[in-house]
Amino acid sequence: MESPIQEYLESLLADVQRLRGGEPYRVHPLGREPNPEDFGICLATVDGRVYSVGVADQEFSIQSISKPFSYGLALADYGFDAVDEKVDVEPSGDPFNQISLAPVTGRPPNAMVNAGALAVASMIRGGGGKSAVRRIVDTYSRFAGRDLSSSRSVFDVEIRHSDRNHALAYLLSSVEVIENDPSRALENYLRQCSVQVTCRDLAMMAATLANGGTQPVSGEQVFEIDVVERVLSVMMTSGMYDDAGAWVSSVGMPAKSGVGGGTLAVLPGQAGLAVFSPPLDGHGNSVRGLETCRRVSKDMEMHFVRAA
Ligand code: GLU
Repeated sequence: MESPIQEYLESLLADVQRLRGGEPYRVHPLGREPNPEDFGICLATVDGRVYSVGVADQEFSIQSISKPFSYGLALADYGFDAVDEKVDVEPSGDPFNQISLAPVTGRPPNAMVNAGALAVASMIRGGGGKSAVRRIVDTYSRFAGRDLSSSRSVFDVEIRHSDRNHALAYLLSSVEVIENDPSRALENYLRQCSVQVTCRDLAMMAATLANGGTQPVSGEQVFEIDVVERVLSVMMTSGMYDDAGAWVSSVGMPAKSGVGGGTLAVLPGQAGLAVFSPPLDGHGNSVRGLETCRRVSKDMEMHFVRAA
């Protein structure tokens, strides 16, 4: 017999699939146009059960959903003080690529906007025979519970469309927030954005955050709880670009979206939710992703006020 959760997700998928509007991200390798009809929802619980409906196993680019995981890696590598000195923890309500640096220090407001993510990417070093990018991809893989990889062809088009990120990286270098080669920071950031994930992977990554940093299936502690606490706090206030306030009031879960069409939301202690649907609204958030999270939050009482 089908579980009530599975049944619920199936009817939700059919319902939200009807929602129109939005445009998929335009930057992609030739022949890999996103299909606006692709739509998947996955819910993973902290005890390792995964419910999935629709397009759950097709790969797409993680894009900005990489930011909280790299932020956590930098925090684990350097400690809070060293990272906070470079990147603040204040909500900006800014579009993702806003050139918004503090006056004098040039400190980016948080690690969820590109300026902060570039600063974080510049901090992550190689080690133990692994390059910085390898360490980043390995960390995401431990969250997902399978080996992920960064797509070269996605990276190649991303770097060709990176004038603004390029400018940001050099600006950050001019104020010494980035202390090494800014073009290397940009490259590492875009390679992390080009990591290929499925909706199921994102649900497992979210469930690992929900589970205090321990991957529900492998049992591996990927991040310490204090790192998870910090990452989820910043996601709560700044994870949804300039739509973060509306998101917290209507969904009430720490979340992160990416222009690849992914949305990831976390209910601490209970579950991770992921949605894949490429059409994006004006903020760069997935139209169906947003609606799905709103509906799940309401129907399953996942808003942090009700879930408590
Ligand atoms: N590759 C994108 C960039 O320009 C990532 C944007 C996103 O997902 O918000 O940084």
